[in-house]
Amino acid sequence: TSVLEFDDVAASWPDTTRLAVRDVSLRLRAGEQAVITGPSGSGKSTTAALAARFLDPVHGSVRIDGTDLRAADPGRVREIVTVVDQDAHLFDATIRENLRIGRPDASEDDLWDALEAVSLGTWVRSLPHGLDTPVGVAGDAVSGGEGQRICLARGLLSRAPVLVLDEPTAHLDADTAAAVLDRLRARLDGRTVLWIRHDAGEPPATEDQKRENELVRIA
Ligand code: ADP
Ligand code: ADP
Repeated sequence: TSVLEFDDVAASWPDTTRLAVRDVSLRLRAGEQAVITGPSGSGKSTTAALAARFLDPVHGSVRIDGTDLRAADPGRVREIVTVVDQDAHLFDATIRENLRIGRPDASEDDLWDALEAVSLGTWVRSLPHGLDTPVGVAGDAVSGGEGQRICLARGLLSRAPVLVLDEPTAHLDADTAAAVLDRLRARLDGRTVLWIRHDAGEPPATEDQKRENELVRIA
Protein backbone atom coordinates (compact mmCIF):
# COMPACT_ATOMS: atom_id res chain seq x y z
CA THR A 1 0.00 0.00 0.00
CA SER A 2 0.98 3.62 -0.42
CA VAL A 3 2.43 5.53 2.49
CA LEU A 4 1.30 8.81 0.98
CA GLU A 5 -1.44 9.07 -1.61
CA PHE A 6 -3.16 12.04 -3.23
CA ASP A 7 -6.23 11.10 -5.20
CA ASP A 8 -7.50 13.80 -7.58
CA VAL A 9 -7.01 16.54 -5.01
CA ALA A 10 -8.21 20.10 -5.36
CA ALA A 11 -7.79 22.70 -2.62
CA SER A 12 -8.36 26.37 -1.88
CA TRP A 13 -6.87 28.49 0.88
CA PRO A 14 -9.29 30.06 3.36
CA ASP A 15 -10.83 33.32 2.17
CA THR A 16 -10.00 32.61 -1.45
CA THR A 17 -12.26 31.28 -4.16
CA ARG A 18 -9.76 30.11 -6.74
CA LEU A 19 -8.25 26.66 -6.51
CA ALA A 20 -4.61 26.70 -5.38
CA VAL A 21 -4.21 23.14 -6.74
CA ARG A 22 -6.40 20.85 -8.79
CA ASP A 23 -6.18 17.33 -10.23
CA VAL A 24 -3.21 16.36 -8.05
CA SER A 25 -2.71 12.60 -7.84
CA LEU A 26 0.41 10.92 -6.55
CA ARG A 27 1.42 7.77 -4.75
CA LEU A 28 4.51 7.12 -2.69
CA ARG A 29 5.26 3.65 -1.42
CA ALA A 30 7.66 3.12 1.48
CA GLY A 31 11.19 4.04 0.43
CA GLU A 32 10.13 5.80 -2.75
CA GLN A 33 10.99 9.36 -3.57
CA ALA A 34 9.25 11.73 -5.95
CA VAL A 35 9.88 15.26 -7.09
CA ILE A 36 7.21 17.87 -7.54
CA THR A 37 8.19 20.65 -9.89
CA GLY A 38 6.34 23.60 -11.31
CA PRO A 39 6.70 27.36 -11.62
CA SER A 40 6.17 29.76 -8.74
CA GLY A 41 2.52 29.90 -7.69
CA SER A 42 1.66 26.54 -9.28
CA GLY A 43 0.70 24.99 -5.94
CA LYS A 44 3.81 23.14 -4.77
CA SER A 45 3.74 24.52 -1.24
CA THR A 46 -0.01 23.99 -1.13
CA THR A 47 0.67 20.32 -1.90
CA ALA A 48 3.11 20.19 1.03
CA ALA A 49 0.49 21.83 3.25
CA LEU A 50 -2.05 19.20 2.21
CA ALA A 51 0.36 16.37 3.05
CA ALA A 52 0.73 17.74 6.58
CA ARG A 53 -2.97 18.54 6.85
CA PHE A 54 -2.36 22.24 7.33
CA LEU A 55 -5.12 22.43 4.74
CA ASP A 56 -7.93 20.06 3.72
CA PRO A 57 -8.91 19.29 0.12
CA VAL A 58 -12.18 20.59 -1.30
CA HIS A 59 -12.15 17.61 -3.65
CA GLY A 60 -10.44 14.24 -3.58
CA SER A 61 -8.48 12.80 -0.69
CA VAL A 62 -5.05 12.71 0.92
CA ARG A 63 -4.27 9.38 2.54
CA ILE A 64 -1.46 8.26 4.77
CA ASP A 65 -1.00 4.54 5.26
CA GLY A 66 -4.47 4.19 3.72
CA THR A 67 -6.16 6.51 6.22
CA ASP A 68 -7.84 9.68 4.99
CA LEU A 69 -6.12 12.57 6.77
CA ARG A 70 -9.50 14.09 7.58
CA ALA A 71 -10.17 11.06 9.78
CA ALA A 72 -6.70 11.00 11.33
CA ASP A 73 -5.79 12.39 14.71
CA PRO A 74 -3.64 15.55 14.28
CA GLY A 75 -0.96 14.13 16.57
CA ARG A 76 -0.81 11.01 14.44
CA VAL A 77 -0.40 13.12 11.28
CA ARG A 78 2.62 14.84 12.81
CA GLU A 79 4.12 11.49 13.75
CA ILE A 80 3.86 10.30 10.16
CA VAL A 81 4.64 13.36 8.05
CA THR A 82 7.37 15.92 8.60
CA VAL A 83 7.33 18.95 6.33
CA VAL A 84 10.40 21.15 6.14
CA ASP A 85 9.21 24.49 4.83
CA GLN A 86 11.27 26.58 2.44
CA ASP A 87 11.55 29.27 5.10
CA ALA A 88 13.17 28.65 8.47
CA HIS A 89 10.84 28.26 11.43
CA LEU A 90 13.09 28.35 14.47
CA PHE A 91 12.34 28.75 18.14
CA ASP A 92 14.12 31.43 20.18
CA ALA A 93 16.47 28.88 21.66
CA THR A 94 19.85 27.31 20.96
CA ILE A 95 20.77 25.30 17.89
CA ARG A 96 20.78 22.17 20.03
CA GLU A 97 17.31 22.88 21.43
CA ASN A 98 15.95 23.60 17.98
CA LEU A 99 17.36 20.32 16.66
CA ARG A 100 15.97 18.36 19.59
CA ILE A 101 12.38 19.66 19.39
CA GLY A 102 11.08 16.64 17.53
CA ARG A 103 13.63 14.15 18.95
CA PRO A 104 14.37 14.92 22.61
CA ASP A 105 16.29 11.63 22.78
CA ALA A 106 18.67 12.47 19.91
CA SER A 107 22.28 11.86 20.93
CA GLU A 108 25.09 14.33 20.32
CA ASP A 109 26.27 12.08 17.50
CA ASP A 110 22.80 12.19 15.94
CA LEU A 111 22.86 15.99 16.05
CA TRP A 112 26.30 16.25 14.41
CA ASP A 113 25.38 13.64 11.84
CA ALA A 114 22.31 15.68 10.84
CA LEU A 115 24.31 18.92 10.78
CA GLU A 116 26.97 17.34 8.60
CA ALA A 117 24.29 16.08 6.20
CA VAL A 118 23.39 19.72 5.54
CA SER A 119 27.03 20.88 5.50
CA LEU A 120 26.71 22.85 8.72
CA GLY A 121 29.13 20.79 10.81
CA THR A 122 32.14 23.01 10.25
CA TRP A 123 30.11 26.17 10.77
CA VAL A 124 28.61 25.05 14.10
CA ARG A 125 32.00 23.81 15.33
CA SER A 126 33.46 27.22 14.51
CA LEU A 127 30.93 29.07 16.67
CA PRO A 128 32.30 30.05 20.13
CA HIS A 129 29.30 28.38 21.79
CA GLY A 130 28.85 25.61 19.25
CA LEU A 131 25.54 23.80 19.59
CA ASP A 132 24.67 26.11 22.50
CA THR A 133 24.53 29.15 20.21
CA PRO A 134 21.13 30.90 20.36
CA VAL A 135 19.45 31.37 16.99
CA GLY A 136 17.69 34.54 18.14
CA VAL A 137 14.07 35.59 17.93
CA ALA A 138 12.60 34.06 14.75
CA GLY A 139 16.13 32.88 13.92
CA ASP A 140 17.44 36.41 13.31
CA ALA A 141 20.87 35.60 14.81
CA VAL A 142 21.57 33.20 11.91
CA SER A 143 21.36 33.78 8.16
CA GLY A 144 18.38 32.59 6.12
CA GLY A 145 20.45 29.79 4.61
CA GLU A 146 21.82 28.68 7.98
CA GLY A 147 18.33 28.78 9.48
CA GLN A 148 16.87 26.73 6.67
CA ARG A 149 19.64 24.15 7.02
CA ILE A 150 19.07 23.92 10.78
CA CYS A 151 15.42 23.19 9.95
CA LEU A 152 16.50 20.59 7.41
CA ALA A 153 18.77 18.95 9.98
CA ARG A 154 15.81 18.90 12.39
CA GLY A 155 13.72 17.26 9.67
CA LEU A 156 16.42 14.62 9.15
CA LEU A 157 16.32 13.81 12.85
CA SER A 158 12.57 13.25 12.68
CA ARG A 159 11.41 9.63 12.87
CA ALA A 160 8.35 10.38 10.74
CA PRO A 161 8.24 7.85 7.88
CA VAL A 162 7.37 10.53 5.29
CA LEU A 163 9.50 13.60 4.76
CA VAL A 164 8.37 16.51 2.59
CA LEU A 165 11.16 18.90 1.67
CA ASP A 166 9.89 22.16 0.21
CA GLU A 167 12.70 23.75 -1.84
CA PRO A 168 15.37 22.60 0.60
CA THR A 169 18.07 24.76 -0.99
CA ALA A 170 15.98 27.87 -1.69
CA HIS A 171 18.19 30.20 0.33
CA LEU A 172 21.58 28.78 -0.59
CA ASP A 173 24.08 29.89 -3.21
CA ALA A 174 24.51 27.48 -6.11
CA ASP A 175 27.69 25.78 -4.84
CA THR A 176 26.38 25.28 -1.32
CA ALA A 177 23.02 24.13 -2.71
CA ALA A 178 24.75 21.49 -4.85
CA ALA A 179 26.84 20.27 -1.91
CA VAL A 180 23.84 20.12 0.43
CA LEU A 181 21.70 18.32 -2.17
CA ASP A 182 24.43 15.70 -2.68
CA ARG A 183 24.65 15.04 1.03
CA LEU A 184 20.88 15.05 1.53
CA ARG A 185 20.39 12.55 -1.29
CA ALA A 186 22.92 10.19 0.20
CA ARG A 187 21.54 10.63 3.69
CA LEU A 188 17.90 10.10 2.59
CA ASP A 189 18.51 7.01 0.47
CA GLY A 190 15.84 4.48 1.41
CA ARG A 191 13.50 6.98 3.02
CA THR A 192 10.13 8.08 1.71
CA VAL A 193 10.60 11.63 0.50
CA LEU A 194 8.55 14.12 -1.46
CA TRP A 195 10.94 16.71 -2.85
CA ILE A 196 9.62 20.04 -4.03
CA ARG A 197 11.65 22.18 -6.38
CA HIS A 198 10.75 24.97 -8.74
CA ASP A 199 13.09 23.77 -11.46
CA ALA A 200 12.98 20.34 -13.04
CA GLY A 201 16.36 18.79 -12.45
CA GLU A 202 17.67 15.35 -11.87
CA PRO A 203 15.42 13.55 -9.41
CA PRO A 204 17.38 13.61 -6.17
CA ALA A 205 17.66 9.90 -5.70
CA THR A 206 19.77 6.89 -6.56
CA GLU A 207 19.67 5.44 -10.08
CA ASP A 208 17.35 2.64 -8.99
CA GLN A 209 14.93 5.02 -7.38
CA LYS A 210 14.99 7.32 -10.39
CA ARG A 211 13.56 4.57 -12.54
CA GLU A 212 10.73 3.99 -10.13
CA ASN A 213 9.99 7.59 -9.38
CA GLU A 214 7.11 9.39 -10.86
CA LEU A 215 7.95 12.96 -11.66
CA VAL A 216 4.88 14.91 -10.69
CA ARG A 217 4.49 18.13 -12.60
CA ILE A 218 1.83 20.53 -11.58
CA ALA A 219 0.51 23.08 -14.00
P1 ADP B 1 4.25 27.35 -5.22
O1 ADP B 1 4.70 26.71 -3.95
O2 ADP B 1 4.25 26.43 -6.39
O3 ADP B 1 4.96 28.63 -5.51
P2 ADP B 1 1.84 27.91 -3.74
O4 ADP B 1 1.28 26.62 -3.32
O5 ADP B 1 2.59 28.71 -2.73
O6 ADP B 1 2.71 27.71 -5.06
O7 ADP B 1 0.68 28.83 -4.30
C1 ADP B 1 -0.45 28.35 -5.03
C2 ADP B 1 -1.58 29.35 -4.86
O8 ADP B 1 -2.00 29.33 -3.51
C3 ADP B 1 -1.16 30.78 -5.16
O9 ADP B 1 -2.27 31.41 -5.77
C4 ADP B 1 -0.89 31.36 -3.81
O10 ADP B 1 -1.11 32.74 -3.79
C5 ADP B 1 -1.88 30.62 -2.94
N1 ADP B 1 -1.41 30.47 -1.55
C6 ADP B 1 -0.32 29.80 -1.16
N2 ADP B 1 -0.20 29.82 0.18
C7 ADP B 1 -1.26 30.52 0.64
C8 ADP B 1 -1.73 30.87 1.95
N3 ADP B 1 -1.07 30.51 3.05
N4 ADP B 1 -2.88 31.59 2.03
C9 ADP B 1 -3.54 31.95 0.93
N5 ADP B 1 -3.17 31.63 -0.32
C10 ADP B 1 -2.05 30.94 -0.47
P1 ADP C 1 31.70 18.54 8.29
O1 ADP C 1 31.70 17.41 7.30
O2 ADP C 1 32.91 18.62 9.16
O3 ADP C 1 30.43 18.73 8.99
P2 ADP C 1 30.84 20.46 6.51
O4 ADP C 1 29.77 19.53 6.19
O5 ADP C 1 30.46 21.78 7.07
O6 ADP C 1 31.89 19.82 7.46
O7 ADP C 1 31.73 20.66 5.21
C1 ADP C 1 33.14 20.66 5.31
C2 ADP C 1 33.68 21.73 4.40
O8 ADP C 1 33.61 21.27 3.07
C3 ADP C 1 32.90 23.00 4.48
O9 ADP C 1 33.80 24.07 4.39
C4 ADP C 1 32.00 22.93 3.24
O10 ADP C 1 31.70 24.23 2.80
C5 ADP C 1 32.90 22.20 2.30
N1 ADP C 1 32.16 21.43 1.32
C6 ADP C 1 31.34 20.39 1.57
N2 ADP C 1 30.88 19.86 0.43
C7 ADP C 1 31.41 20.61 -0.57
C8 ADP C 1 31.35 20.58 -1.99
N3 ADP C 1 30.61 19.65 -2.64
N4 ADP C 1 32.03 21.48 -2.71
C9 ADP C 1 32.76 22.41 -2.06
N5 ADP C 1 32.89 22.48 -0.74
C10 ADP C 1 32.23 21.60 0.00
